[in-house]
Amino acid sequence: MSHLENNLQTVQQRIENACLASARDVASIQLLAVSKTVSAQTVQALAELGVRDFGENYIQEGLDKINALAGVAHIQPLRWYCIGPVQSNKTKWVAEKFDWVLSVDRLKIAQRLNDQRPEHLPPLQVCLQVNVDAGVNKSGLSPQDVSALALEVSQLERLCLRGLMTIPEPQTCFEDQLAVHQRTRALFDEIQAKHSFAQWDTLSMGMTADLEAAVQAGSTLLRIGTALFGSRN
Ligand SMILES: *Cc1c(COP(=O)(O)O)cnc(C)c1O
Repeated sequence: MSHLENNLQTVQQRIENACLASARDVASIQLLAVSKTVSAQTVQALAELGVRDFGENYIQEGLDKINALAGVAHIQPLRWYCIGPVQSNKTKWVAEKFDWVLSVDRLKIAQRLNDQRPEHLPPLQVCLQVNVDAGVNKSGLSPQDVSALALEVSQLERLCLRGLMTIPEPQTCFEDQLAVHQRTRALFDEIQAKHSFAQWDTLSMGMTADLEAAVQAGSTLLRIGTALFGSRN
């Protein structure tokens, strides 16, 4: 068995165990492979093992891989997620080449993505990034600003607003991880109670170090890099 296959099995096992511990259905959780710094070849190898969803932080690096893998016939079409900061001068590329953006935190960026999403593609799927624990130097909206931006983004026709994404400050203890994720979950529920958006179904939280706590708190989209590909330099 390859390292990659072994890592994938370990991650899947962790997700299953976390689901058992919190009485959740495994089918309610999606695995997003975070492939920043990883080669297109390695992405292809993971795709050959059945993974379809890949997340990239840096637009240019993502585009290179999207282009490299677009023509590979024997793997199913991949879904690409932009999970890093999006500057105004990059929105066109994101709108044309990615399927999802998890890191929307300003109306101006949302409007540009909306205007630049090509007609022949389905709406761009978006989540708002929330800075739930007020981590320093971090992007993301303050929790109190989420509702207003969500309402504005929901009215953009070429975007489909799906939910929230968050990257909390690293915590080593499970209880602390859980407490932060539960706050995001509460915000996620609050927004939906207020607005009843048509497709508000995605809560992206949980990375290699805290996926169990994220599953327990209700994450639907785990973003896993290190546990799949090994540690980054
Ligand atoms: C790098 C990254 C991840 C993956 O983190 P790991 O700890 O390597 O699993 C998830 N989300 C975002 C936004 C990232 O930048």
